[in-house]
Amino acid sequence: METRNLICIGCPMGCPLTVRLKDGEVLAVEGNTCKRGAEYGKKEVTNPTRIVTTTVRVNGGTENMVSVKTREDIPKDKIFDCIRALRNITIPAPVHIGDVILHDVAHTGVDIVATKNIER
Ligand code: SF4
Repeated sequence: METRNLICIGCPMGCPLTVRLKDGEVLAVEGNTCKRGAEYGKKEVTNPTRIVTTTVRVNGGTENMVSVKTREDIPKDKIFDCIRALRNITIPAPVHIGDVILHDVAHTGVDIVATKNIER
């Protein structure tokens, strides 16, 4: 049996979790105060994912940068590919919340969307 110790990132309480696995299957999650912690612990050891937030350059707008995020979680091991894919992108103003900035980032099937309005 394998044991993994994690800190839950579901809320500021940061509960210490112990996840017990056998042959890659989660047998138990302990230490969680709520159901969200059990779900996080299970997912983190089997298929860790994250929402990625960053900024992208804007051309001709009232501000030079716009905040963006992945529309959904992406695999944790794709985060750097995602950041790299956005590093050299410049988009024209105006930009509106929810606009798709990049489709299928890093071949994850997930789009990058704007989280702020930038006018011309
Ligand atoms: S287990 Fe629940 S209470 Fe504890 S950090 Fe996670 S979300 Fe918060």
